[in-house]
Amino acid sequence: MSTLLELESIRCTYQRSIAVNDLSLCVREGNIVCLLGPSGSGKSTILRAIAGLEPLTSGQILLNNEIISSQTIFLPPEKRKMGMVFQDYALFPHLTVHENICFGMRKLSKFKRKQKSEELLAVVGMDNFSERYPHELSGGQQQRIALARALAIKPKLILMDEPFSNLDIELRERLSHDVRNILKAHNMTCIMVTHDQAEAFVISDKVAVINHGKLQQWDTSYNLYHDPVNRFVAEFIGQGVFLPGVLQTPESVQTEVGLICGDRAYDWPLGSKVEVLIRPDDVKLSRAGNLFATVINKSFKGSEILYTLELPTGYKLLSALPSHSDHNLGESIPIKLDLHHLIAFQ
Ligand code: ADP
Repeated sequence: MSTLLELESIRCTYQRSIAVNDLSLCVREGNIVCLLGPSGSGKSTILRAIAGLEPLTSGQILLNNEIISSQTIFLPPEKRKMGMVFQDYALFPHLTVHENICFGMRKLSKFKRKQKSEELLAVVGMDNFSERYPHELSGGQQQRIALARALAIKPKLILMDEPFSNLDIELRERLSHDVRNILKAHNMTCIMVTHDQAEAFVISDKVAVINHGKLQQWDTSYNLYHDPVNRFVAEFIGQGVFLPGVLQTPESVQTEVGLICGDRAYDWPLGSKVEVLIRPDDVKLSRAGNLFATVINKSFKGSEILYTLELPTGYKLLSALPSHSDHNLGESIPIKLDLHHLIAFQ
């Protein structure tokens, strides 16, 4: 797979505040990439810079090895030939849903256009809406039509800013899968902004975690969860708590719940005080029963229950246990840790 888009040390500033700072990314053709981060972290600014809607203060953006944005070069948005699903790239109000979707397909025959538009309407779950006008649709429905319109022209690169944000959770999940399948079937490359990690995990091949305009980690969803490179990513992705301990060997930490070993070596001096990331799936029920924790909170999630457990020293752990064994608040339950990765921070 060749590189389609490269961001080289890009910086974007508004007045005097830096929204994107020295950020580099390399997106391969056919990949689906999410920009994930808290609100205000700079995700939309990055997307808008790629689209040609924001200038760069420094750095450059290359598409197919050609510079499209730098301090001296600026290819206007319409010449970048990217599909865009942006909140402010609204539907044409005077055109019906069908006409909106067909807007970029004028070269096709009338029959083909109708066929494509019907196919795409089915994908976004809006089969019976082809003759409606945008003002007759809800915000979420308009978003789905905008998505269909962008997919219709099969651009090489498609940019989406929170495309599923107005939709209910079930539709959001189904659409994420369907959109992923369409993008993959047509080898389209996609960059999507989201603040929802579940959505990023479903749709993307790779995720860029952004905070304060800086790239924190550029990795697969699996690695973000199991191998976060810094404390921000460890806290932002998934759930978990940090338990204090002392580095016993480069690969093990002594904590109040015992010696925790992993597959990663740390080169800090032995005896250093560290904090170990414990995920809810690391804390299991134990038959041996020599370590007990008290249930102080629980939330029912359907197939599992997420418990907050208090250890004898007062430190708390989270534990996701199958919901057929239901423990009461105040109950003391035997636990053990089952960690595959030792993630420690000083
Ligand atoms: P995100 O998409 O992650 O929510 P944005 O890229 O929208 O973040 O914003 C990044 C930072 O830039 C924020 O601090 C935001 O307040 C600021 N910002 C965004 N757009 C503008 C603008 N048009 N003028 C001034 N500041 C802006």
